[in-house]
Amino acid sequence: MTRFIFITGGVVSSLGKGLASAALGALLQARGFKVRLRKLDPYLNVDPGTMSPYQHGEVYVTDDGAETDLDLGHYERFTGVASRKSDNVTTGQIYSQIIAKERRGDYLGATVQVIPHVTEAIKEFVRGDLTDEDFVICEIGGTVGDIEGLPFFEAIRQLGNELGRERSLFMHLTLVPFIASAGELKTKPTQHSVKELQSLGIQPDILVCRSEMPLGRDERRKLALFCNLREQAVIQALDVDTIYAVPRAYHEEGIDREVCHHFGLTTPEPDLSGWDAVCDAIRHPDGEVTIGVVGKYTSLIDAYKSLAEALTHGGVANRVRVKVHWLDAEIFEKPGYVVELENVNGILVPGGFGERGTEGKIAAVRFARERKVPYFGICLGMQMAVIEAARTLAELPGAGSSEFGPAETPVIGLMTEWLRGNEVERRSVEADLGGTMRLGAYDAQLLAGSKVREIYGTGQISERHRHRYEVNINYKDRLEATGLLFSGLSPDGQLPEIVELPSHPWYVGVQFHPELKSRPFEPHPLFTSFVRAAVEQSRLM
Ligand code: GLN
Repeated sequence: MTRFIFITGGVVSSLGKGLASAALGALLQARGFKVRLRKLDPYLNVDPGTMSPYQHGEVYVTDDGAETDLDLGHYERFTGVASRKSDNVTTGQIYSQIIAKERRGDYLGATVQVIPHVTEAIKEFVRGDLTDEDFVICEIGGTVGDIEGLPFFEAIRQLGNELGRERSLFMHLTLVPFIASAGELKTKPTQHSVKELQSLGIQPDILVCRSEMPLGRDERRKLALFCNLREQAVIQALDVDTIYAVPRAYHEEGIDREVCHHFGLTTPEPDLSGWDAVCDAIRHPDGEVTIGVVGKYTSLIDAYKSLAEALTHGGVANRVRVKVHWLDAEIFEKPGYVVELENVNGILVPGGFGERGTEGKIAAVRFARERKVPYFGICLGMQMAVIEAARTLAELPGAGSSEFGPAETPVIGLMTEWLRGNEVERRSVEADLGGTMRLGAYDAQLLAGSKVREIYGTGQISERHRHRYEVNINYKDRLEATGLLFSGLSPDGQLPEIVELPSHPWYVGVQFHPELKSRPFEPHPLFTSFVRAAVEQSRLM
């Protein structure tokens, strides 16, 4: 029997609803349940793929090729359950689907309305594509009271009714602010936000209160009384020093106990020693390395969420703290600025789109290559490495990417056709920008004797992609003659997936996004190896 937990937010956004959902998922898992996590996003975009990273943060890509909300990254990192396309829906998707049906004539005779048509579609999504999950944790984006959110709140209200209390639970995450001048925690915003929720017909069963200060007995009593729930169901959620401490912190406050109580489930206490070990490695490292990340969206860390986490995981694996220096690529376009890279132990150029900053990234790659600083290029970062090698080593000064306009020597170009398994996939220059990239999991074959073959410990890998352009295979021989090795290729040998420089201590460029698959308990091997190389480099300094 699948039970549904709906997580809503109130008072303000950015309270960490995604993390709370992920942590609850991890706790229920630790109690032996099978969980699945889902996100309902009320905005009108079909997916976040076309939004600016400044607006939305990172786009998280699933194995089955969906471009989704970054909270799905938290879900995967915390539970290890690979997210699917069917785990994230937006208003844009729901409406596109309904309008397409209406045009086909599927609703012939009917007036198509928010209730019941939109709400039914949302409910179908929540209950669809499940097998034997014990729990589906379903997070609703935004805060209660947002206009866009109304159909979603109505849909979960209806679901609550249809499933009954024994199969549904409403959890509301709010802020209890500390007002310094009064020296008091204030419960009023939470009371208002719960009233708003009740006016939509939803009574929360559990209240999770984010707060800088511990909730006193009085505040707890007041919240329980005014919000109409048991005192034990008021859970305090204080700030913690690392996100990996959230499962333990929420457990100590009784969140999983309350969920089990609600459903009348008894299980042994969860074993959280794995989480404690991760936190211990983060809190008490044996050393520290600095990685310079040269990117475009460096002023908003959410734009590189999975990357930052994967670096932390690489640190945990080597028991060192990884300090990240976020560097705006454009500064390296001015002469002399590479000095900013003098003191880093590793350089990483992450994924990105558009021309701005690319010459700066190429300058950073050159610095890493010439100075033998460990270099990790991801997606655009691999493409920049190939351009740098083509220009400097292969003496092709006109080398560039056709993403930035016609290049004299297009070492990075648009592939119009490729194979996925036995199927031919196509894309054209005129295609829409939304959803037309090489997206999701693809296999790659690794060259025997290469560094990546050794790092992965296997010859065949599957990694997630999100890009429109490819390294042009026609330049393989020319580039390999300079020492750049094409050590990973698509199974048909047409798409370069990895390049490395065997003469360099650690220089790897990958066309995919390994950061999306790194987890605290299973750090990605490339990140573990890159951080280890940075540790070795730091000993030379
Ligand atoms: N802009 C490049 C492309 O589309 C790289 C994309 C990325 O780094 N994710 O191919």
